[in-house]
Amino acid sequence: MPEGLINVAYIVAAVLFILSLRGLSKQETARKGNIYGAAGMLLAVIATILGGHVDSLGTLMLVMLVGGGIGLIVARRVAMSAMPELVAILHSFVGAAAVLVGIVSHMEPGNLAGTELLIHEIEIVLGVFIGAYTFTGSVIAFLKLRGSIGGKPLTLPLRHKLNLLLVLSSVLFGVWFVNGNPEEQILYLMIIIAISGLLGIHMIMAIGGADMPVVVSMLNSYSGWAAAAAGFMLSNDLLIITGALVGSSGAILSYIMCSGMNRSFISVIAGGFGVAEGTAVVVSQEFDGKEAQSITAEETADLLRGAKQVIVVPGYGMAVAQAQHIVHEITKNLHNRNVSVKFAIHPVAGRLPGHMNVLLAEANLPYDIVFEMDEINSEFKAADVVLVIGANDIVNPGALDDESSPIFGMPVLEVWDAKTVIVLKRSMATGYSGVGNSLYFRDNTRMLFGDAKDSLNKVSALLN
Ligand code: NDP
Repeated sequence: MPEGLINVAYIVAAVLFILSLRGLSKQETARKGNIYGAAGMLLAVIATILGGHVDSLGTLMLVMLVGGGIGLIVARRVAMSAMPELVAILHSFVGAAAVLVGIVSHMEPGNLAGTELLIHEIEIVLGVFIGAYTFTGSVIAFLKLRGSIGGKPLTLPLRHKLNLLLVLSSVLFGVWFVNGNPEEQILYLMIIIAISGLLGIHMIMAIGGADMPVVVSMLNSYSGWAAAAAGFMLSNDLLIITGALVGSSGAILSYIMCSGMNRSFISVIAGGFGVAEGTAVVVSQEFDGKEAQSITAEETADLLRGAKQVIVVPGYGMAVAQAQHIVHEITKNLHNRNVSVKFAIHPVAGRLPGHMNVLLAEANLPYDIVFEMDEINSEFKAADVVLVIGANDIVNPGALDDESSPIFGMPVLEVWDAKTVIVLKRSMATGYSGVGNSLYFRDNTRMLFGDAKDSLNKVSALLN
């Protein structure tokens, strides 16, 4: 295939990748975004095969068939809740590929000499360093998300100094690699791979299980930079562009998640925060001398029947209870009674980016009644009833008015402005951040205790 045509194919593929990212930014266009991405990748693979650098088409087809077949089976079988661990292990493949490309590029440098060879060798050091870190870090993230290793952060004494030592020794071996003779070079390269692999294991082991989603997004970014580094080593422009797109979008997503949680990116990657996933801290039944007031399913149904405007705030507990389908049933029932029902989605509700949107889409809830925090926060004042379903941190007034709170500064849904707030949860336990919530003790808040699905089933039966 002529060089010009390959370049055109690469540019079209790059545009398709950009359109894909754009499509994935909204629920309504996400399916189209996926199709653009798959089409871009197909075009990229065909152009690369026809680019004249493939020696054995048969071998290539065989490995593509095996890899594609495994991908197809895994993607069809994976449960929505297991998606983060699948993504984590896929990132490890990108890291491993960058390491292998680095080793092969070193063994067959082509006709490079002088400055060109120097630049190539620096690319190799960077490529294997990022690649090995991404590989081992992603494997650890995968094992933590699967529960094969505990989610509790591993905080060794002097761990930051140890990390710094590992980085500095990689730099030192990198310098020796660039200046070394061929026999020494391969040894130095292997040492760099071992050190950065160790760094990946140590840094991700230090991060608490519940911070894993941010880590997966961060590893996604690293896998992009590893792919871009591989693109430089192979002089493949499309791989550089694709790697940069993945690298920067992963970094932006990590940043958005960190600001939604009011955490700095550095504090997440430095690790040591939080408890293992699933550890709930039970707080006092009293706050400022006030007791939390409970409500029954019957009283809840009465309040909903009499309301004109209802806003539903789903949180992590809705995912645990798998209450999304019954929430949709109640929504339909209220719509039939001419009650307006809207959904308010906090950017870090649940435990994954877009967690609530995915659950509500699974329950076939219409998109046009689902609103993001900034769009709906001013509407709570006009709401008669707010149903907080298994949410805690994202509706905590302390984030706005308690400077001593660890989540102070985190933007939250201002549900307390509504006439009545009904909180569905099983106990007075805290959520992810382990912080008490004064919302439960407000005069207009009522607690509907129990599993969210059980409670909503009762309310739905009473509404019928
Ligand atoms: P929270 O973790 O703050 O609270 C969830 C609440 O759900 C708990 O207090 C729990 O109370 C309740 N719950 C659990 N199971 C059930 C059940 N079966 N029925 C009813 N209630 C239940 O969740 P939020 O969604 O409010 O906030 C998300 C938190 O996760 C934020 O702190 C965010 O920073 C963090 N986070 C989010 C990420 C993301 O990407 N979305 C990534 C990483 C962290 P009880 O035990 O009493 O029932």
